[in-house]
Amino acid sequence: MQRFLISETAKHIGEKVKVAGWVTVRRAHGKLVFIDLRDRSGVLQCVFVPSVNKEAHEKAQEIRTEWVVELIGQVIKRPEKMVNKEIETGSVEMSVEEVQVISKAQTPPFDVTTSGMEVNEEVRMKYRYLDLRRPRLQHNLIMRHKAAKFVRDFLTAEGFIEIETPMLTKSTPEGSRDFVVPSRLQPGKFYALPQSPQQYKQLFMVAGLERYFQIARALRDEDVRGDRQFEHTQIDMEMSFVQREDVMELNERMIIAVVQNLFPEKKIQEIPFPRLSYKEAMEKYNSDKPDIRTDKNDPNLLAFCWVIDFPFFEKTDEGGWTFTHNPFSAAKPEFAKDLIEKKNIGNILTTQYDLALNGVEVGGGSVRNHTPEALEKVFEIMGYKTEEIKKQFSHMLDAFSFGAPPHGGIAYGFDRLLATLLNETSIREVIAFPKTGDGRDLMMDAPSEIYPAQLKELHIKVENPKLKKKA
Ligand code: ASP
Repeated sequence: MQRFLISETAKHIGEKVKVAGWVTVRRAHGKLVFIDLRDRSGVLQCVFVPSVNKEAHEKAQEIRTEWVVELIGQVIKRPEKMVNKEIETGSVEMSVEEVQVISKAQTPPFDVTTSGMEVNEEVRMKYRYLDLRRPRLQHNLIMRHKAAKFVRDFLTAEGFIEIETPMLTKSTPEGSRDFVVPSRLQPGKFYALPQSPQQYKQLFMVAGLERYFQIARALRDEDVRGDRQFEHTQIDMEMSFVQREDVMELNERMIIAVVQNLFPEKKIQEIPFPRLSYKEAMEKYNSDKPDIRTDKNDPNLLAFCWVIDFPFFEKTDEGGWTFTHNPFSAAKPEFAKDLIEKKNIGNILTTQYDLALNGVEVGGGSVRNHTPEALEKVFEIMGYKTEEIKKQFSHMLDAFSFGAPPHGGIAYGFDRLLATLLNETSIREVIAFPKTGDGRDLMMDAPSEIYPAQLKELHIKVENPKLKKKA
């Protein structure tokens, strides 16, 4: 007999069908036993009546929460009084004739039918596969899939192609600490995991691909906080022959389409998205990702705004200069000469644009330098010696000397964007397997020690801090 999804049962009143799933609850009412059965499509009330099938009724007494069972029975209409309007299958129930227990379950460490907010997070993470049984988290993952698919389709229709970039790459200066991977074949050398596909995507522009995007993983070894994880997902894109306006226009259209199609209950406060200069944002809101909502109590209000005209450089503690956002950005056209002449450095504004949503920075990008001279100047201003620039960035400088189109792009923090759209307080609620606040995966028990033979192969000696203390 073919298995039916629970959501389909209401269309088959009077028929004998088979359903399978997890037991959400079992209740006994006098002689009757009720089971709420759950599958990926919904919940169905199943009734065991001794006069319908004695054996099934007896078996039902033993069934416990979260067991996996297969039930065969007749779909019947519920009496009018018993209809549950809250659920899709609320007008029907199954009168069970056969039961098969597929898999028993230990008592789960927590209730999987609640929001989960009442459960200690460490316990949720250790049993994440049970935590993910929650309807709230399943909904979040489904919306995540839908948003990714929507963006893929939107950008595809705009002439973009999705291209993967390497995970094993070279350390890049993007303002964060790299995760490094030891090389077995090149003793003493290390790969870095990408902080973003920044350099590769610019090289796609040199390659003439013109419109690239990728739903990409970005890895940064920074302190894990509520809205940060070691690995986050970016909607990353780059376009050729564009100015700042073109990138912002396309992206504004994309974000509005995502909201209107997938989150129709949400209201966008202002279209076109207002634009604030960094200076205005700081003066008015004391934040470079201002929360400009006119009503902060409305959970469905989305106040997007662009922040532009950031300073390109800021002073380091040592008195030198460093970039504020992205070393590959171009200066605004009116400051291009200052950059080349390395004059007026503190006043140079960058083409950077950030997208803020309800006080959260959800995306950012810029128009890039596409001449080797301008890129070289950025690194000179930051105090790099010619030798060092060659060593670290010769691939970019070389590439730009072979005919580079003007180009620009953006990347969104996909997790943050989703968390905000789904009214979640932490990005951990929209990531399937997130890490804890101190960067551990409690389910897999990672990070973990590796075998001495593995270390040897990688030419690595570990200084064990515990042993060291004793010595
Ligand atoms: N690579 C930048 C980032 O990860 C985004 C961009 O400028 O496209 O923040």
